[in-house]
Amino acid sequence: MGVKDAYTRIAEQKIASVYEGERLSRHTTFRIGGPAAALVECDTLSQLTNVIDIANGCDCPWTVIGKGSNILVADSGYDGIVISLGRDFKRFAFVGIDDAVMGEAGVDSDANGDSNDDGAHDKNGQSGVMVCGAGMSLGRLVQETFKRGYTGFEFAVGIPGSFGGAVCMNAGNKLHTAGQVVRSVLVYRPGEGLNRYYSEDLPWIYRYAGIPRGEVVLEAEVRVAKGNKAKVQRDMETELSLRKVRQPKGLNAGSIFRNPVGDSAGRLIDQAGFKGYRIGGAMVSDVHANFIINVDNATARDVLSLITVIRNRVKELYGIELQPEIKFLGFA
Ligand SMILES: Cc1cc2nc3c(=O)[nH]c(=O)nc-3n(C[C@H](O)[C@H](O)[C@H](O)COP(=O)(O)OP(=O)(O)OC[C@H]3O[C@@H](n4cnc5c(N)ncnc54)[C@H](O)[C@@H]3O)c2cc1C
Repeated sequence: MGVKDAYTRIAEQKIASVYEGERLSRHTTFRIGGPAAALVECDTLSQLTNVIDIANGCDCPWTVIGKGSNILVADSGYDGIVISLGRDFKRFAFVGIDDAVMGEAGVDSDANGDSNDDGAHDKNGQSGVMVCGAGMSLGRLVQETFKRGYTGFEFAVGIPGSFGGAVCMNAGNKLHTAGQVVRSVLVYRPGEGLNRYYSEDLPWIYRYAGIPRGEVVLEAEVRVAKGNKAKVQRDMETELSLRKVRQPKGLNAGSIFRNPVGDSAGRLIDQAGFKGYRIGGAMVSDVHANFIINVDNATARDVLSLITVIRNRVKELYGIELQPEIKFLGFA
């Protein structure tokens, strides 16, 4: 039993859509990465659990990706199954303020299995809970909350990726993070079943929520509150214009390194003279030194070499070991 047995069984039993040898460069914002043995798109929870059961039964490695905006995939790809969350995981519903709202896939909120009787909303309807599928894009979530006059997600405007990815990465800006608005996270724990973490059960540290590896985020509840729509709009515009000035354009995966405590990785890399430094098709951005841009058909090897050179030099100059923020997939 192995990788091929796993995806062949998934395809033959028509459990979910299987894309054999799918190039992962098509699924990362870096546009870098070789093929997965197979990419499997799961539209429902039962598809997801069956796929994982089969993969585990065949000793086939698997992983879940969101929008690939924080991942570097090896040039040789990933010898396993990459799972992407489809239809049912793109739903959302506001609970406790409006009547349940139809989500992206037009499925009503009851299907989430959540109820509205747990005190999740206040008496005058000024705050409530939004149940959001992990496969939904974070941008859509920001827009849907804004459209309905809620506040709380202004910080997330312009951050690419899926909602599930934002939860796992505790995505955010300098002041606000996903963990501050999440009320609970529903995960699938292979071999055991569904498990709900309440926010206080998780550490929510810098760019890490604390969801254990091997668990799949299915959906999360977020707290929303009625806000002043004009102010929310102004704050989002400010956030976006700051991003425009501070973050580079081009193919990238966001910040490469985590900021060391009390310092900024970008500042250290800039001070070390790396802005514009290039290896192969990968270049350190001259706008923000913590971004690497795929300027000309960069390979994962180019990016990795750049990461290594930067880490060594920063260590040599300042005694600080920069830790990657991006996730690596398919590297030995
Ligand atoms: C231009 C640009 C700007 C960015 N700006 C910011 C910023 O301001 N702040 C910030 O925090 N980040 C930023 N990022 C990084 C990135 O957008 C975030 O980390 C984002 O939340 C990742 O979401 P994703 O869906 O793309 O996750 P992916 O990159 O697909 O995955 C990231 C990790 O999460 C795991 N994962 C994803 N979904 C699930 C799931 N459902 N269950 C279990 N595990 C899962 C993956 O296995 C992987 O380990 C930026 C990136 C880019 C390209």
